[in-house]
Amino acid sequence: MARIVMKFGGTSVADLDRIHNVARHVKREVDAGHEVAVVVSAMAGKTNELVGWVQNMPRVAGSNAPFYDAREYDAIVASGEQVTAGLLAVALQSIGVHARSWLGWQIPIRTDNSHGAARITEIDGSFLIKRFGEGQVAVIAGFQGLAPDNRITTLGRGGSDTSAVAIAAAVKADRCDIYTDVDGVYTTDPRIEPKARRLAKISFEEMLEMASLGAKVLQVRSVELAMVHKVRTFVRSSFDDPDAPGMGDLHNPPGTLICDEDEIVEQQVVTGIAYAKDEAQISLRRVADRPGVAAGIFGPLAEGNINVDMIVQNISEDGSRTDMTFTVPSGDVDKALAILDKVRETIGFDAVQHDDGMSKVSVIGIGMRSHAGVAATAFKALADKGINIRAITTSEIKISILIDGPYTELAVRTLHSVYGLDKH
Ligand code: ADP
Ligand code: ASP
Ligand code: MG
Repeated sequence: MARIVMKFGGTSVADLDRIHNVARHVKREVDAGHEVAVVVSAMAGKTNELVGWVQNMPRVAGSNAPFYDAREYDAIVASGEQVTAGLLAVALQSIGVHARSWLGWQIPIRTDNSHGAARITEIDGSFLIKRFGEGQVAVIAGFQGLAPDNRITTLGRGGSDTSAVAIAAAVKADRCDIYTDVDGVYTTDPRIEPKARRLAKISFEEMLEMASLGAKVLQVRSVELAMVHKVRTFVRSSFDDPDAPGMGDLHNPPGTLICDEDEIVEQQVVTGIAYAKDEAQISLRRVADRPGVAAGIFGPLAEGNINVDMIVQNISEDGSRTDMTFTVPSGDVDKALAILDKVRETIGFDAVQHDDGMSKVSVIGIGMRSHAGVAATAFKALADKGINIRAITTSEIKISILIDGPYTELAVRTLHSVYGLDKH
């Protein structure tokens, strides 16, 4: 007997038929004698609809900004998961599985009070372990938690993955299965590159980079938690027939295992390509070149909650003035420009330029630590396709390249092929 946490994403619970299909996946594990807790997302598209409602509230009198209240945002946006948790519990009961739905606050899944992007601070596993003891399948609403002041929080978009891994860690589950609409983690997004291949295993570090750099198959925080708590996490498909041979294999189910580097025998130099659209580039021209300038620019941006990503500073020619270029999410450009306007006098720069609609394409692989020339290969391949590189950042196991948005797909496919990722 094992203890398994099963998480089903939005497309897996998109309608009643899909929810009944999910119930069959759960029943398979229950019939095999395992203790099972289930985490669900809202139906596909539901959270977007709820977010849209919040964003389309009336304007504040005399201003362009809509009414906004972070706590009510969470109260509204968390509601989609309540519906699917209840529906799945009923679907399970209808096929003879003892099941009950639970919301975040009922467990409780405690978080900090960063509404809209809360972090889980504590889950006492004993509540769920008691349910296992009663032979009950707990169906838990993902994406939500409870702030210290007892208000509902949400964990950021894609947060049900994090709910599932955190619960798996809290109950010391043998496995956490993330069921989605693809049958594993691929060398790149299979929607962009049909030649992408499924990986049997990927290391925590590489998955962390893939997720941070745009591969939305897992929320970044869920990978961090899986890594810290050593949760055995599989990404697998809910669209596979629940009763096909091998689906119930305890140790080696179909899908991709996220695991320690040492578990991967044949390590490739490059493991995958990720991309993130909707990046914007901001350049400050002729910035004073003296100590404290970077802090003077990026401090206020950080205080404004703006996520600055790539930063490029030129070496100044005459030692007095330089150019500073950095990227922010497109949605944050106006806010960033307003902040920069305020600090312009104190910092001293000539002009601000900005360009929207950029993309960041990244090459990821642990093998890069010990192989030279990986970056040069990418630059040449992109040049051969006439793709202009606007900025570059690298770390031990990744290279990120900023390009014009319309070239995203071409760049992803080009890099995927130049590292031989489409070959078996
Ligand atoms: P869910 O609703 O189940 O949480 P998501 O839409 O959040 O599903 O994540 C699954 C999607 O992630 C896939 O449909 C796929 O298009 C996308 N994706 C991006 N990069 C990858 C990758 N490297 N491997 C697999 N899927 C990827
Ligand atoms: N329903 C939430 C979202 O769309 C959480 C999730 O699906 O993981 O972001
Ligand atoms: Mg998701």
